[in-house]
Amino acid sequence: MTDRFPTDSQGALFPAATRRVAPVLVPLPTPGPYSYVVPEGLDVEPGSIVQVPLGPRQVLGVVWDGPVDGIDAKKLRPINQVFDCPPLQPEMRRFIDWVASYTLSPPGQVARMALRAPAALEPEPPIAGLKPTGVVPERMTEARRRVLAVAGEAEAWSRSGLAHASGASVSVVDGLVKAGAFEPVLLPPAPLVAEPDASFGQTELSADQQDAGDALSDRVRASTFTVSLLDGVTGSGKTEVYFEAIAAAVAKGRQVLVLLPEIALTPAFLDRFEERFGAKPAQWHSDLAPRMREKVWRGVVDGQVRIVVGARSALFLPFRSLGLIVVDEEHDPAYKQEDRVFYQARDMAIVRARLGDFPVVLASATPSVESRVNADQGRYGRLALTSRYAQAALPDLSLIDMRRTPPSRGGFLSPPLIEAMGKTLERGEQSLLFLNRRGYAPLTLCRVCGHRFQCPDCSSWLVEHRFRGQIQCHHCGHAERTPEACPECGTLDHLAACGPGVERIAEEVVGHFPDARTIVLSSDMLGGVKRLRLELEAIAKGDVDIVIGTQLVAKGHNFPLMTLVGIVDADIGLSNSDPRAAERTFQLLSQVTGRAGRTGRKSHGLIQTYQPAHPVMQAIVSGDAEAFYEREIAERERALLPPFGQLAAIIVSANTRAEAEGHARGLRQAAPSGGGIVILGPAEAPLALIRGRHRFRLLIQGGRRADIQAYLRALIANGPKERGSVRVQVDINPQSFL
Ligand code: ADP
Ligand code: ZN
Repeated sequence: MTDRFPTDSQGALFPAATRRVAPVLVPLPTPGPYSYVVPEGLDVEPGSIVQVPLGPRQVLGVVWDGPVDGIDAKKLRPINQVFDCPPLQPEMRRFIDWVASYTLSPPGQVARMALRAPAALEPEPPIAGLKPTGVVPERMTEARRRVLAVAGEAEAWSRSGLAHASGASVSVVDGLVKAGAFEPVLLPPAPLVAEPDASFGQTELSADQQDAGDALSDRVRASTFTVSLLDGVTGSGKTEVYFEAIAAAVAKGRQVLVLLPEIALTPAFLDRFEERFGAKPAQWHSDLAPRMREKVWRGVVDGQVRIVVGARSALFLPFRSLGLIVVDEEHDPAYKQEDRVFYQARDMAIVRARLGDFPVVLASATPSVESRVNADQGRYGRLALTSRYAQAALPDLSLIDMRRTPPSRGGFLSPPLIEAMGKTLERGEQSLLFLNRRGYAPLTLCRVCGHRFQCPDCSSWLVEHRFRGQIQCHHCGHAERTPEACPECGTLDHLAACGPGVERIAEEVVGHFPDARTIVLSSDMLGGVKRLRLELEAIAKGDVDIVIGTQLVAKGHNFPLMTLVGIVDADIGLSNSDPRAAERTFQLLSQVTGRAGRTGRKSHGLIQTYQPAHPVMQAIVSGDAEAFYEREIAERERALLPPFGQLAAIIVSANTRAEAEGHARGLRQAAPSGGGIVILGPAEAPLALIRGRHRFRLLIQGGRRADIQAYLRALIANGPKERGSVRVQVDINPQSFL
């Protein structure tokens, strides 16, 4: 038996077999691996998934790399069990360590994201089957004859499969088993997904698409780390192009991960995928049933599952031989996780590809400024697709100056937009009105005393949801029945809804077009994801005339009849203090207007704004994205904002304002000086209260090469310790500043 692990300092004095020691990382917020004794006869290696005792419990763990701590082996507890599961690959273990160190998270907390499905740790048991013996029973019936006739078509059958194939009942099958015509055998479990076929439904690509596809396939075949930015207008065929890269990886026998921001809502993507590869990919997202998650996890570790299409958390699946990651809509804010381990999945995908030495493809019609700069500076390869595929033309975009053509009293839609909707309806085509606000109205107030309805636990207004008869907090979910009287002054029936949400826009639309088939789509719709999928299909089929939706309608859908997109309030995202506000608005508006005209019909985008001269609005209507990027990049460079500098946030929260503020001040005082890093704050967070917790923020800003992590580690080590209700969360490269 080999001794794979370093022993403690007296290692040589003891027989190795009785006291091998291994570091084991448990999926808990521990600072590092713990040491365990490897009992004789148990075979483990780095990456092995094991069960170990921890306090009174048995927990999962992964045998880790590196030295064990110097604790006397006699005091250590033994590993209890090794699971019959392929070990986590070295690149996966290094990835977990890397993410932990970069995000300042406990490594066990990161490992937890890779190990979520304990029941998947043993292989699936074989299933009972039947094999024909060639014995012909004495008594023959018509049903028996049918069963025996199909029996030869396969080597073995499941009991119900055989009955189904022959059209006989299972009791007939059972009778034949008794009569000796079949014998029981054990069959391997059916694979979760069929093998993709790289050349199944090859698409004929246009010349540009072919060039881009060839370039990507070459990179995949070279099997070294590269990043390619596939930058192409909506509808240019980016998906078709990266399918080529996927085909190349599949042909090499490597696994592929495709990250999508809204996987649960893009069944059309899965259909396209199947048409191209002859098999559906495995999916990974939070709506998956637990049993399915286990199966996918297991298939990924085993290598049986070749292609996974998933949400950001799929990045932590322990692939056996990953050879390509595609990050579609790479600019999408949904790639940022802000919970426990705060990470940016697009950025971490690049890290994972570097550690595994394989290519990554970032696709977007509106790349993030970060990716654009990296491409401009030659760190990423850039492949551009500049026109829509075939006859499809991009929509004509124009601004509606809301100061000049204001909506009528109490309304939010300006006359030119209403007129365009009417014409679209007459042509039998579809309109989409986009407003990124759920519910009926973002604020309710009393017209008599001015009282505003606010969440008791958060610093936010309660949003009226009229369909549901509730006012609701969008941060914590707190909900109450919509009141009839003001709780402050008691006046009845004088509550006013302020501002629009999608429900209110729908009400206005119905007022103008009572006969049109109108639908509201937002993520809080009753019936959840299933219902949403059905509605999206109905829209694609043309069963709806007017769609009013939040950003979930912006992503990836193909609505052939949609020829008008109206942006109800283009200015919403510009008013906050987020340094990426302009970029985000540009991306969102481009994406939403890109829903129009995807199949060749003449299409329009109308953008309602009070700031028609704003550079974002000008960039959108002129179609001059380059000018926008240039300006935005220059601005970031001047302000040393990412990617020209680095940011990190520290968010301190506590049950009382004083505790949170005191702790944040203590951290500030512990901040090291120098290193080209500055610290700002603490300041009360714009969202000062969430779920009853008071929040303060510190912002750390450094140059491109500054060691922000070392700075933060020193600050946290020297600062006050987390006590009582105080919690400290680090957010590297924050996306939210609330
Ligand atoms: P993008 O991802 O850039 O928005 P898609 O890959 O979704 O673009 O392509 C837009 C539409 O054009 C899709 O309906 C797609 O099937 C079609 N399409 C693109 N390229 C081709 C091609 N080479 N052959 C056939 N259809 C194509
Ligand atoms: Zn709340």
